[in-house]
Amino acid sequence: MTPSSEPSFRDSVELMYSRAVKLTELSPGLEEKIRVCNATYTVRFGVRLRGKIHTFTGYRAVHSEHMEPVKGGIRFAMSVNQNEVEALAALMTFKCALVETPFGGSKGGLCIDPREWEDHELEQITRRFAYELAKRDLIHPSQNVPAPDMGTGEREMAWIADQYARMNTTDINSRACVTGKPINAGGIQGRTEATGRGVEYALQEFFRYPEDIAKAGLSGTLKGKRVIVQGLGNVGYHAAKFLAEEDGCLITAIIERDGAIHDEAGIDVEDLRKWIGDHGGVEGYPKGKYVKNGASALEYDCDILIPAALEGVINLENAANIKAPLIIEAANGPVTAGADEILRGKGTVIIPDLYANAGGVTVSYFEWVKNLSHIRFGRMEKRQEEAQHRLLVEELERLSADKELGWELSADFKDKFMKGAGELELVRSGLDDTMRTAYQAMRKVWHERDDVEDLRMAGYLVAIERIAASYRAKGL
Ligand code: GLU
Repeated sequence: MTPSSEPSFRDSVELMYSRAVKLTELSPGLEEKIRVCNATYTVRFGVRLRGKIHTFTGYRAVHSEHMEPVKGGIRFAMSVNQNEVEALAALMTFKCALVETPFGGSKGGLCIDPREWEDHELEQITRRFAYELAKRDLIHPSQNVPAPDMGTGEREMAWIADQYARMNTTDINSRACVTGKPINAGGIQGRTEATGRGVEYALQEFFRYPEDIAKAGLSGTLKGKRVIVQGLGNVGYHAAKFLAEEDGCLITAIIERDGAIHDEAGIDVEDLRKWIGDHGGVEGYPKGKYVKNGASALEYDCDILIPAALEGVINLENAANIKAPLIIEAANGPVTAGADEILRGKGTVIIPDLYANAGGVTVSYFEWVKNLSHIRFGRMEKRQEEAQHRLLVEELERLSADKELGWELSADFKDKFMKGAGELELVRSGLDDTMRTAYQAMRKVWHERDDVEDLRMAGYLVAIERIAASYRAKGL
């Protein structure tokens, strides 16, 4: 039954969990254990800035510790509250289980508008927040490993890593206390774009299955598909850019804070991103049509809708008007439980958040492993691989010459074939494999079980079974 009023974000996630768990054989005790958020720490701290003390409120929620460390981003936004971080922490638990990153779920947030502060002020605030969390092991390489989220990025992660290292001077693994760091502070190639890249890989995988494409009432490949993207932040920007540049999609609308740009001929993502950087919004962009009421563009006709910003943007008010037959949730929780039901009723296929945006935590996992192993991926193998491939190419060329076969390997082939995989290639390969494998696990449940209507339920079921198995293995 569709809820008559919109539940909170946390209730929305719980409703989705409840719908899924009904389809399992879990004992009521275990069902409850997986549902509840284990702990949420609230901190209020003061920082002296601009001649007076400012008090900030922050949170770190730990949803499930069936695996440790627990993992999840830290968000900087005025809208942050306990309810939100708990919902996001729960999603992290299910997300990590679905893509098999060996973590429990956590999430943090600080109520702050980062744009109101100078860089050095933000650094002081971030370091102080990190200090408060680290001294309670809520930042710790083996206990709790934050990452970027809305309003935070590499820079904040570098401050957090440094703060932790200052507090733990003899911890050789201190860099593994946080992921999403810049390369020079222990980060990994490909982390910044990982979530957007994951969205692209998820769509590529979806489009490998004609039955799944047909369920969405679509046909063909990604090429030429008309895509609407809501939010041109880190995730939306990278997803839109890769889909346009590499998969031949047409980005027909981009929705931002101050309105939307609509252009059926396709928007130049890079160009619009630059415009936003220079002008602070999309208004005035000379190409396409500017639409003041950005949210109305969610309802435009298209093939694929990518909400890549805040939670709850597709809700009881607009769900019935959404025309996209396929929605991929690049954001966390962009479709409320009520909207989800309306969309299911209409036959809309939703590739759910716990899968669709898991590229970020997947590459975070690679970064954490890199930090713990203290060596960059590919450092030992790359040249050895190149030498092997060179041997093969030379042998083929020798054979061709000896036997006068007249074979000639193209320069392009030789270049590509002889290049050993470096860190970026390995990260992409690992991410692609993760996105494919998780989708296959989900679609198997989707297609094989009559009681499973949608991919979201399938994703939850795969995740819940794995979490339950870990709890059982612990003897719970
Ligand atoms: N904040 C991201 C998410 O919601 C990344 C979390 C991580 O890398 O730990 O999935």
